[in-house]
Amino acid sequence: MRAVTFHEHGGTEKLIYEEVPSPQVGPEEILIRVKACALNHLDIWLRQGIPSYKIALPHISGCDVSGVIEKVGATYMGHLTPGQAVFVMPGLSCGNCDECLAGKDNCCASYQILGAQRNGGYAEYVNVPASNVFPLPANLTFEQGAAFPLVSVTAWHMVKTLGDVQPGETVLVMGGGSGIGCMAIQMANLLRARVITTVGFADKVEKAKKLGADEVLNHSEENIVERIAALTQGRGVNIVIEHIGQKVWENCLRSLGRGGRLVTCGATSGQIASFDVRYLYSRQLTIFGSYMGTRDEFVEIARLAESNKLRCIIDSTYPLEDARTAQERMLDRKNFGKIVLTIGTSET
Ligand code: ZN
Repeated sequence: MRAVTFHEHGGTEKLIYEEVPSPQVGPEEILIRVKACALNHLDIWLRQGIPSYKIALPHISGCDVSGVIEKVGATYMGHLTPGQAVFVMPGLSCGNCDECLAGKDNCCASYQILGAQRNGGYAEYVNVPASNVFPLPANLTFEQGAAFPLVSVTAWHMVKTLGDVQPGETVLVMGGGSGIGCMAIQMANLLRARVITTVGFADKVEKAKKLGADEVLNHSEENIVERIAALTQGRGVNIVIEHIGQKVWENCLRSLGRGGRLVTCGATSGQIASFDVRYLYSRQLTIFGSYMGTRDEFVEIARLAESNKLRCIIDSTYPLEDARTAQERMLDRKNFGKIVLTIGTSET
């Protein structure tokens, strides 16, 4: 099959479009003919090389996959059949440990992400444990189905489960044009909160408003802390949803009002953040670390997508062989929504 691989860590020039052996389908796995695969920042970190992910080389990235079932494993007894359109929950867990049995599968000690610890969807075919494969809702194209899983399950875990956003609360979503940002804005809206978001480019302001943000701040031109204070009559926001890390951390904490919650799931601008502990306790703030989301949450949000309550925002699509250009667009931060690779024809 054709795939985009990298044989050593480095820049986008390390991505190679080449012929590789097709994956073998395990007894409880499903082989998917990939139609679309969305990019995530994890793809870039894995290509560059990060110590927390030990991966075998050559590697095929791609966490977010939609496609058509080519073949089911020998002992698979479920309802999915060849020819069916599907999308994939990218978090893989053992299914048997205490955490998995308690429904906290994203805390599983052997948790893996498709396209990280195992080969992913920058390829014509990918094999996935059957328990991670779900029918693609009929109202989603393959591109939308690929754009949806990772950022949606992550954002739902942050906004609904950890942030526990309540009607009437004010939520600050940092980086509203990112995949997570686009989903977090819609989710906070769905939970009837007031949504303030930030973007880095002027052309993203209107797009964020269309998604449901009540106020959009440009963090390259405006003082976020002062603007938040003005917009909240000095009270600060109730919840901050952020994935940018170091560069914004202090401003995020300073934007929170008393009893505020900060939920973070990333560190794209740097991993070392510092803050004044006195500020943390005197304001009674809570900081949540968030990583992916659970299978139950995935089922919940898939229903929301199926009933058009969540929209999958696609910035651009590229054929698989242009994965290098696609990753460069992500690195430029010009995208609003997800960047998606397409493989073969893409009609549902
Ligand atoms: Zn487990």
